[in-house]
Parts: sequence; C-alpha cells; structure tokens
Amino acid sequence: MEEDSTYPTSRFIKLYDKKRTFYYKIIKEGTYPLTNQLHYTRNPKHPIPHNYIVETQYGKANHIVKCSINYVEGKPLFKVNFGENFAKEVHSLESSTEAACKYYQEFKEATNKGKISGPLLFGLKLLSVERVRKSVTLKIQPFSELSNTTRRRKMLCLSQCILDAVEEEKENMFHPTDQIKLKQVKFESYNDLYDINFEQLDIMGEIKRIEAVVKSLDRNHISREAYRSLARIEHSIPREEAVSTTRQRINIEMRKNIPLTLVDLLQPTIFEPITEEPHITDNAVITNMLESIGKGGQRRITNILNYIVPLYIERGILTPETSTLYIRISGDGRNVGRKVKHVMVTMTLLNDLNGLQKPDNNYTLVLYPGSESYESLKNALTPLISDLSILKEKGFDQIGGNHWPVELFFSSDWKFLSICLGIKAANAQHFCPWCDCSKDEINTTTKTINKSMDEIKDNYNQINGHIKKPLFYMIPLQNWVCDELHVFLRITDRLWELMLSDLRRETTNEEIWKEKILLEMQRLKITFQFWREKNNNNLSYTSLMGPDKLKILKEFNLIAIFQSTERAIQIQELWNQFNELYILMQNKQTTGETFHYKAQTWLNAFLAPSKGHPNRSNFVRGMYRIQDVTPYIHVLVNHVAEFIEIHHEFGLTAFSCSAVEKKNHMQVCLYFRNTLKDGGHENSRKSAIVEMLEHENRQLYFALNEVPNFFEKPKKYRII
Ligand SMILES: [Zn+2]
Repeated sequence: MEEDSTYPTSRFIKLYDKKRTFYYKIIKEGTYPLTNQLHYTRNPKHPIPHNYIVETQYGKANHIVKCSINYVEGKPLFKVNFGENFAKEVHSLESSTEAACKYYQEFKEATNKGKISGPLLFGLKLLSVERVRKSVTLKIQPFSELSNTTRRRKMLCLSQCILDAVEEEKENMFHPTDQIKLKQVKFESYNDLYDINFEQLDIMGEIKRIEAVVKSLDRNHISREAYRSLARIEHSIPREEAVSTTRQRINIEMRKNIPLTLVDLLQPTIFEPITEEPHITDNAVITNMLESIGKGGQRRITNILNYIVPLYIERGILTPETSTLYIRISGDGRNVGRKVKHVMVTMTLLNDLNGLQKPDNNYTLVLYPGSESYESLKNALTPLISDLSILKEKGFDQIGGNHWPVELFFSSDWKFLSICLGIKAANAQHFCPWCDCSKDEINTTTKTINKSMDEIKDNYNQINGHIKKPLFYMIPLQNWVCDELHVFLRITDRLWELMLSDLRRETTNEEIWKEKILLEMQRLKITFQFWREKNNNNLSYTSLMGPDKLKILKEFNLIAIFQSTERAIQIQELWNQFNELYILMQNKQTTGETFHYKAQTWLNAFLAPSKGHPNRSNFVRGMYRIQDVTPYIHVLVNHVAEFIEIHHEFGLTAFSCSAVEKKNHMQVCLYFRNTLKDGGHENSRKSAIVEMLEHENRQLYFALNEVPNFFEKPKKYRII
C-alpha cells in the first residue's frame, strides 16, 4: 500500500491501494515499551505502541472509529470506539484483529464484504509513525549521542506522559470546577535544560507581559544593558530584543496619535568657555548635549487632549456636556551644568485636583536645552500659542467625541512668568505683573490687579514695565498665578538675609555668630556652610532646599544666636507670623479677606518703626525699612488674597509648579543617563529630546492600555 504522509509535520496520513483508502489522524503517537515487553503484530511484524490513539476513516461511507492501545500488565489492550461521540466500545487483550472483528459484529450496518484487518484499522502499518516513534523509544542511547530532533521528540514524549498522568489523576483529587491545568514541565540532563510548555502560546498574554516590562524599565529608568544582563541570568523574563521591539512598536503607534516634532530654535549660540572643572568629562555626553542645543521638541496640546480626555472621563474627573477643561500651562527652566538650561513647558488639567502633584499628570508640550529667554521661548512656543488661541476661542472638539469649553491658566516661578509676560526683571521700577505699583510705593497694601491682558496685548509698550508682547496673551491676567512655594521661599530668603544683617550690627566679629549658626544648623541636622567668594570677598552660604528652609523658619532658635534676647524674640515673632501666612495660603478654607488682613498685619510688623529714644532705656528698635520690602512681599500682601478669592475653586496649591520642576529634573537625569547608557549603541545617537518625548508618549500608552504593574505571583512548593 502507498503511504501519503508528512508525519510528524502533519498528523493526517493517507494509506491506500487500488481497492481501499484509509485516512488516519494521529491523536497520540504513543511509545514503544522497553524491548523485552514489546509485542508485535503478526506477519509483517510491526511493534505495537503503548499509549497510542488514532482516528481512522475508511470505506465509501466514511466510517470513523477511534482506536487506542495501552499496555496493561505487560500486554497490549486494543480498544475500538465508534458510534455517536465514540460512545460505543469494544476491546481485546488478544490482538488488534480480534478487536476489529468485535467491532464488525457490533456494527450492524457493516455489509461484511470480507473482513477488515486489525493492523489497518489501528494504523499499525504506518511506517512514518513507526519511524518517528522508534527514534524516540527503541534506540535508547545516551542523550549526548542523539540528534537535536530526537532529543526534542523524546522530551515531548516524556512530557506527554506527564500530561496524561495529570489528566487521569486530577479528577481523583480536584473538583472539576478547579480547572487544574498542567502548564509547564522542566527537565535537566547534565547542563542541558528543557522547559516544555503545554497549550498554545498565549500571544496576547505574552504581549501584555512584554509591555509591562517596557513600562517597568521606563518607570525605573533601567538601561537596556542592565536589563540584557539580567535577562541572561533569569531566563523566564522576556528577551531584551523582544522588549526593544515592543518599545519601538509603541513609539511608532503613539507617534501616529501624538506626533513629535523636532524644530530648530533660534538660540544665542555663544557659549562662554568653561574655565572651571567640567562636571562631565565623557565626550559622548558632551557632544550629544551640544548637538541638542538649538533643537527643540514639541507635542501638540490638542493631540494630547484627544488622548487624555477619554482617560479623565473614565476616571470620573470630566463629565461630557458639563465640564469645562481647566487647562494650566506651566513652565520651568532647570540648570544643567553651569551654562545651559533645560526648559520645559507643560500642561495639566486643574479639573484633576488630586492628581496635579504627580509629575505624570503634567504633560510636556515643549522641551529644549538652551536659554530661558523671551526670543527662545517665543520661537519654541509659536505652535502652542496658536493652538491655545484657538482653544480659548472655540473650545476643544474631541475627535469623534464631545465639545468642551476651555479656560486657560498659567503658573510658574516669577522669572519664567515675567519672561512670558514680557516684563522687566523683578528689580525694575515697575516690577509687578499684576498692578501698576512702582518701587517707591512697594509698602502699599491696597493694590489690586489693575492691568488687563487685552490692554497689555495691544499697548504693551505704553504700559510701565512692559517691554515685549506677552507670549500667552490669550490667558487673562488674573489666571496668571505665581507659584506659592516660590513666594514663600523667596521671602524666607529675605528674612534670613535681614536676620544676618541684624547679627552684623549687633556683633562686628562675625566669627562669633557664624559659629553659633553652624551649631544651630547641626542641631537641626541641616548641612550648612559659610565661605568667602574669591573675587569680591562677599560672605556666601549654602543655598538650602525648600524643606530645610521651612524647618529653619519653624525651628531655628534665634535666642541662641543673638546677644539681645529681645531682638531675637522680635525676629522670631515675625518669622512665626510669616509661617502662619504660608499655612493659611495652602489652606483652601482661607478667605481672601482673612488673608489680606493677616498679610497686612504681618507687613506692619515687618516695617514696625522704632519706639522711644535710642539713648533711653525704654527704646525698642524697629524692624525693617521700606527698601527691604521685595516684589514677592508686595505680591504676598496685595495679590495673594485676590488669587485666593478668584481661584477659590482650585485653591492656591493647585498652581504649585513643584511637580513640573520634579518632572523637568527627572527628565534631565534621564537625559544624562540616556546619553551615558548603551555606550556606542545606535539608540544613543537618537536625540535625547526625542527620547524624552517618546518616553512620555509611552506613559500615555500604558495608561490608556492599562498595562499592569505586576502579575500574580506563583506559589512555590518543593518536593525533595
Ligand atoms: Zn502688584
């Protein structure tokens, strides 16, 4: 007979001659038991397999039977199942032919034209199957002498035995609803390891798992090199190559929704020669950094809104037909090294009050290394400015979704705000972004926002202090809010300087009080130093971080520093009162009226005049002079109360830029890391700006696709 077979590639085999045709489907290939127990068919001799199942189709009527062979106590048991769902069964411990005969007797429709042969019905004449089976079982040779194909087949065969045993045994131990499944077996032979997985590869599950790895690497800024070396140790985690490919796929997919544009920016290209020791000497990093100057990256605000609005709706933060999009634009410039700034402009939705402080909820719109100047910003912000004008005027039309009214806000530190507003620096005669106050009346407490954006936009050159057209002219002036933390920190700096000049007046020998301050800093566990500048001999000291400044304001013991306890208490009181203002400023319950009153009272204390005659014993020294009042103090006393009223719905903390600063800082670190990592890898040649924006695009992908942060941990047991 002719055998038409590609087994094991296909499990379907045709066996035929002129009279007959049989079609077989090998369900289970089976194995040959150890040679001394092995039974054979008679003439011609074919070995009889164990644990074998085949579906056989024959005859004009295409009858189908299921035949199986299992060795029971050293002898093969032949079974034939037939009828509907193979529910009927005959068996024989004698021979396949006897089993076939029994089947014929039972099978009424049989026309009995000659008998069917057992070996044919059981597919025992199939040489292609026999050959494969023999390669696995009969030639028991040391593993090392086998071909890879044979090793593979033997491992699969052994695994099949385990799967069969599990399938048979599980019903004795578990409830059917437990859905116990054998997922994988592992074998070892000397140094060769084998993992055999059952079932089809869960492609969707595998993709999710790799995406989760990409997310984790992104989130923790783990380099490809680090991951690759880890994956060489722990082989159950996805290969680095698969991870890179997935990252690339996400980038491409995201770029379709949120394209990244790289633009050339007009930059002052003169960079002063660095005379001091450079911080980074790695040439690749320096080259990459210098190459990036003059290049800016952008993402359009409307693309981002299209992506995030559905997420915010799902989280219940936005309600279609009801909500207005309260878009806050913020900016920040970080110093990278000593010469270059890293400028970032972001957007966030004030609607999500609880999420504002997370850097991930502040979306980067514009990014560039260079200078934080009006021209550079104008250049980089042109597309954003035009988008904002349209949003302000027409609202936002979500793709395939709703129409949303838009209200725009702006917040940043003073410097960034003044550049974007086109005004002179804070030390100018007309310094205030919000009112017409001049330096001569800086101690006033009655100013309100008395400039308007419409007026500034059209006639900026006729308004004191204004030198350029505002960049964000579509945002009303009362929606430009100075970062409250900056107001607090700058005034704290002023109070500290004034306290030092008090000390100087009291004790000429500065070594005495410097020593006391250092001791006090030690007590508060704050790292602090004094030194003299080389060029002008001015006294300098460590510039402190926000939390340390707050600690000093609250806990610094001035009595331990001053000779005069009276002066120390006076200053302490001023500091305490200021701290109270800061707490009030952060509290959403505070009314503008209360704040204005308290701020006025504080300024009165700040400017308290001397009492009595300097030579008399009842003399009380006054506090500070009008010249000591800074623009920040002017804002605190005059405008903060107004902002509290106007932005009552959000609270002043909603305008804090610390999340943006944190984000910019993080990205700068990532930037350095990205250029440092991977050495000469092709990816390091990609612009760092593009990498940063791609990183952010991927974060949006992870959020929208709900890429998990972790998977269920398996319970680990051991049998020894
Ligand atoms: Zn003002």
